[in-house]
Amino acid sequence: MAIRHVNPYGKVEYLDRPLSDCSCNGCEGARRRERRSEVRRSQRRSSGWQTGGSVSGEPAKTKQSGERIEALWGGSEPEGDGDDHGHIASNDGLNADYVRYPGEEPIVNRKRRRGQR
Ligand SMILES: [Zn+2]
Repeated sequence: MAIRHVNPYGKVEYLDRPLSDCSCNGCEGARRRERRSEVRRSQRRSSGWQTGGSVSGEPAKTKQSGERIEALWGGSEPEGDGDDHGHIASNDGLNADYVRYPGEEPIVNRKRRRGQR
């Protein structure tokens, strides 16, 4: 989408990219939009949680990073997390290293050993 830039002589120009040092409405608005979408992208990258999974038939959020898998379910939020959510995590994708049923204390809580990945 072209940016409607007004140059210092009052002439309108259409640009693909906003000028970094221009304060016309077109360039400022475009820079604001770019910053906002940059923030959204980095939030998606850092969280990695996906909706649409299920645990015990309840909607769950899941995350996989390497061999480690995690799921949250049964909380106050519709997607599975929120207050009192259940949480299960496995560092190797096979054995449970952390298990907590919704609203309860953890029943498995194995710390990741040093040097182990
Ligand atoms: Zn401009």
